[in-house]
Amino acid sequence: MSKKLKKNVIVICIDGTRIDRAQKSKVIVNDLPGRIFFSNAITYAPYTNSSMYAVFSGSYGNRNGCSSYWHSFKFNGTRFKTLTDYLHDDGFFTYADIHSKLSIPKQGFDNFVVYEESENEYTSRHKDLLNKMKKLYDDGTNFFLYLHYDGIHKGIMNSVLKVYDNFSTEFFNNRSKNESRYDDLFHESENYLQNLLNEITFLDLWKDSIVLILSDHGCSVGEKIGERAYGSYCYDYTLRTFASFIASEFTKQEISNQIRHIDLMPTLLDYLEIPFDPNYESIDGQSLLPLIKNQKFEEQIAYSETANPLKENAPPKKPNTKSVRTTQWKFIFNEYNNTKELYDLQNDPYEEKNLIGTDLEIEEILFNELLKLQSNEIS
Ligand SMILES: [Zn+2]
Repeated sequence: MSKKLKKNVIVICIDGTRIDRAQKSKVIVNDLPGRIFFSNAITYAPYTNSSMYAVFSGSYGNRNGCSSYWHSFKFNGTRFKTLTDYLHDDGFFTYADIHSKLSIPKQGFDNFVVYEESENEYTSRHKDLLNKMKKLYDDGTNFFLYLHYDGIHKGIMNSVLKVYDNFSTEFFNNRSKNESRYDDLFHESENYLQNLLNEITFLDLWKDSIVLILSDHGCSVGEKIGERAYGSYCYDYTLRTFASFIASEFTKQEISNQIRHIDLMPTLLDYLEIPFDPNYESIDGQSLLPLIKNQKFEEQIAYSETANPLKENAPPKKPNTKSVRTTQWKFIFNEYNNTKELYDLQNDPYEEKNLIGTDLEIEEILFNELLKLQSNEIS
């Protein structure tokens, strides 16, 4: 007798998607049955690798070891079991197609394919993979497919990162040009995603799969001098992105509660009824299923950190800019010059009015939370 199959898992990462664009996108906020759109998903790190290692491990980088651009190899995979490991152990065939071997943990993948940097044919590549996985499933094997779209990322690298520095007046004085450059890249990503969603429909995989679409971080269009793309600061235009689950039995909705990228992995495990492995470290995230099902759910503080390169060309090895965030407040600690920032996100979503030192009680509460979270080490 063949093994009872679970739902397949398809994760699609649209690298560098801004939340304002995602919210207005009919492709991302689509009409598919069972589509949950989280509009307040906070990344651990506003750059690719540490963000995605946190997604895969359900844990912050200061615990899992991948806390900077340089630290993919420091990920503690023997003590942190990844989403891929869990699915692989459960009999899933695991496949990743990605632009860089350093962007996600490789462990647990049966097939880990790094595509060429010049690759532009994401759509046909990834449609092919969906077809291969469908065949595998029809033959009686569950699959986990991870697809990384780096078109926005690559476009920003070529037309922003290689052209300007973090303080170029030519960049910061041309906001509308930055916006339209970004929009062009974003529209291409929408075309890609629409094609993949169509293919999943064509292959009739919705009823047999849970799909997670997310972005690892956002991107600047010139909001704050000192950051021409991402990775320097902890402001919402890079920390706040989206996450969208699509599963046939969910009730379609948009959820504006703050959630964290570290919550995505435990949500998938909870959904697939895969228990945590007690031989590994406990994770930082929590399942979002209660929130999706309108049950009792308590918002958690989101911790983020990054290593601001300041005037250098490359980021330092240790994070020097840290933040804690609630739905209402953001507290930032710039360790490199010992300054703090406090923003009322409800009334000041663009983080323009620093309320530090204005006798708000929340200032000390959040600073203490930050100190607690940044010193969290493996127990
Ligand atoms: Zn990225």
